Amino acid sequence: MVVIDEKLEPILNEVLRRNAGEQEFHQAVREVLESLGRVVAKHPNYANNALIERLCEPERQIIFRVPWVDDKGQVQINRGFRVQFNSALGPYKGGIRFHPSVNIGIIKFLGFEQIFKNALTGMPIGGGKGGSDFNPRGRSDGEIMRFCQSFMTELHRHIGEYTDVPAGDIGVGGREIGYMFGQYKRLTNRYEAGVLTGKALFYGGSRARTEATGYGATYFVERMLATKKTTFEGKRTVVSGSGNVAVYTMEKVIEFGGKVVACSDSNGYVVDEKGIDLDLVKELKEVRRARISDYARLKGAGTHYVESGSIWDVPCDIAMPSATQNELTGADAKTLVKNGVKAVGEGANMPSTPEAVRIFQEARVLFAPGKAANAGGVATSALEMQQNASRDSWSFEQTEAKLATIMRNIHDLCAQTADEYGAPGDYVLGANIAGFVRVAEAMDALGVI
Ligand code: GLU
Repeated sequence: MVVIDEKLEPILNEVLRRNAGEQEFHQAVREVLESLGRVVAKHPNYANNALIERLCEPERQIIFRVPWVDDKGQVQINRGFRVQFNSALGPYKGGIRFHPSVNIGIIKFLGFEQIFKNALTGMPIGGGKGGSDFNPRGRSDGEIMRFCQSFMTELHRHIGEYTDVPAGDIGVGGREIGYMFGQYKRLTNRYEAGVLTGKALFYGGSRARTEATGYGATYFVERMLATKKTTFEGKRTVVSGSGNVAVYTMEKVIEFGGKVVACSDSNGYVVDEKGIDLDLVKELKEVRRARISDYARLKGAGTHYVESGSIWDVPCDIAMPSATQNELTGADAKTLVKNGVKAVGEGANMPSTPEAVRIFQEARVLFAPGKAANAGGVATSALEMQQNASRDSWSFEQTEAKLATIMRNIHDLCAQTADEYGAPGDYVLGANIAGFVRVAEAMDALGVI
């Protein structure tokens, strides 16, 4: 267990007391505060004026009712959230998640992580997150549209190009962003392209935004492997999930010469020793909206599907958890280390439990935390905002080149910060401190607000 600095311990205790029961939020705050002892010792001014206490308290939290009518004509009620966590560096920025597990604690953990992630990108964006406990699984297109419209009917008064710019997350992709943008436009009578990111190309979206989170995570891991003079070439890689992040992680890993042998969804995982057939995964998940079990059924020999086991039992050199929070436990980390894993890159937000992170670090496995490794998605959202603001649209190559540079810079910043603070190779510490310093400088300059 990492000991927390004595100045920071009362702050953590107060966060735990005030936000009782919000386990994921506690976990995210604890991890950051564990890293900050060394900064506060070096720069005591960052602890002045209750700066850290203010950082842990969202600037604004909005909770609202989302009524909608299903295909049977029944009225359904969900709960909507938007947590506007910190706007010291720019308008609040962060995705919207539709998943039955969503509650205020989940949105606060995601919003808190987003502050540091967004700061690491070096772009002018603050941190926020939103979502709903709506379950899109099995819902018709019409139901999805009516839900998105109702959600935006309340959300529209809280967002804007200069205020808060939502995007997608789990359960929210191009289709949902389209319905929400349409409703925003209708309600405000403004074609304000920069109010949402993750839009489709034909109405103000950015090329490479869909691919950005997965590509970015892979660029980060590539750079991390390079510090050990190695590459993806020929490495067995396991990528959990089969959503947007996982699909484009697999695509880039394959392009870099790695061999992806397994992926998953919330029901189970599939192993294909010949290498996952990405076209089939895309067809199943993006077009047919089917389950990953169909992969093994369609491919047959040489593949197998395991229902409800752990994908981390599959031996690999590189693990890229790209599904959801706390999907990789301490027991999974032990298995991965026993099987000789060399690097772990988090595509999802906080997919490894604190115990898993400790096990990787003790075993000297290269470990890239989500708030650094998956920052490519939001960074490309900021590039989308730039294009919208200048009414411009860039080529795929140009946009991906910018993404690659941003990821390289984030990697190097985390590595240098870890060195500077006496913990070489500790990307968790490097990411937390580097992200914090950028936000703290701005908060300090803006006074007590
Ligand atoms: N939901 C993504 C994240 O976790 C992207 C957010 C965005 O593009 O604003 O960073």
